[in-house]
Amino acid sequence: MSGYDDLVAETPSWVWLEGHPALDFANTVIRRGWTELELIHSCADLESWLDAATLPAPRPRRVVQADVEAFLALRDPALRLLRAATGHGLWSAADAELVNEAIASVPVIEALGATRGVIETRTLGSPSPFALLLARLAGEVRDALTSDVLALCDAPGCGQLFFRRRPNQAWCGPPCGTRARVARHQQKRPRATDA
Ligand SMILES: [Zn+2]
Repeated sequence: MSGYDDLVAETPSWVWLEGHPALDFANTVIRRGWTELELIHSCADLESWLDAATLPAPRPRRVVQADVEAFLALRDPALRLLRAATGHGLWSAADAELVNEAIASVPVIEALGATRGVIETRTLGSPSPFALLLARLAGEVRDALTSDVLALCDAPGCGQLFFRRRPNQAWCGPPCGTRARVARHQQKRPRATDA
């Protein structure tokens, strides 16, 4: 039993999230077996993710369906880029531009503070909390894409992005390594009944 199959049956519990904004953002698609599953369909799904994820900006108090759509419109290119950076799929300049647009939608400046020697990062304009969150997530994705420990766990029931904690780490955790080995064994010996 993978455990993941149970987790994605209803509202996800997000226990696998990495605790990093860019990865938590991208890891809203999961595999059931080898089939990909979208986990964000509704405002309730997005609300549950907002409660569980590590956010780079304050949590918007409530979300509407248009926020779900805006979330996915940025998440999809971000996910493709992060996967491409791990050798899964091709890098797309158009996807990079979508992330850049989200970053540019909420400009920041380094302003002089009220006290000498203090520099404050200030947001220009008055973005909605959700627009601010998406812009910050886009910035987190940009930064994660420069990481040399970014990896994709290519196990059935997972497919999640993670940061390697040691060189040559192939799986996000031991359960995925076990599932991948079992899957490989079953592929080789589809009718094997011995343990
Ligand atoms: Zn995994």
